Amino acid sequence: MPNCYSMELQSILKNRCEIEEQIKELLAKYPDCMVMQLVPNIPGINKKVEPAVEIFQIGRDTLLNQLDDYKISVKIEIIKYELAFFAGLWVVKYCGLKIKKLCVAIEDHHPLGMFFDLDVYQKNGKKLNRENVGAKARKCFLCDEPAKVCSLFQKHTYEDLILFIRQTYLKYRYDVKGVVL
Ligand SMILES: [Zn+2]
Repeated sequence: MPNCYSMELQSILKNRCEIEEQIKELLAKYPDCMVMQLVPNIPGINKKVEPAVEIFQIGRDTLLNQLDDYKISVKIEIIKYELAFFAGLWVVKYCGLKIKKLCVAIEDHHPLGMFFDLDVYQKNGKKLNRENVGAKARKCFLCDEPAKVCSLFQKHTYEDLILFIRQTYLKYRYDVKGVVL
């Protein structure tokens, strides 16, 4: 008999496959556009830990403000609130590489950018990566190693990573709004 955890995991994987399918469908329906995706860059299977929803909203607002600054109009916005994660999809008619550069700039320079995963899918369904626009691989939150290395070797505990995310978010809130939660 499957336990609850594995059933939950299956549902999460199913949700992710559905989003991948949706991206493919959008690219097929709008062949002259590309699709941007935002998900919170949070460790673990469950991405709905505090403050993921706030981080997601800030990422969305930042992205839309940047698009607006560049006069790039969004054809369609889809926000998914799934079992264990959030995802935003935006269909945009613009050069994929330029949009990827914009996404990398947000990831690297916004105070919470390290917690945003901004992906760009081109018309062939291919995901552009940071290397495509001359950017370095993402660094770990807690040390200077590439994030993939720390994740692969589980160099840091889940608790330490989540604590860092919460502390960074609270500092951002304080810096921006002067609010102590
Ligand atoms: Zn590390």
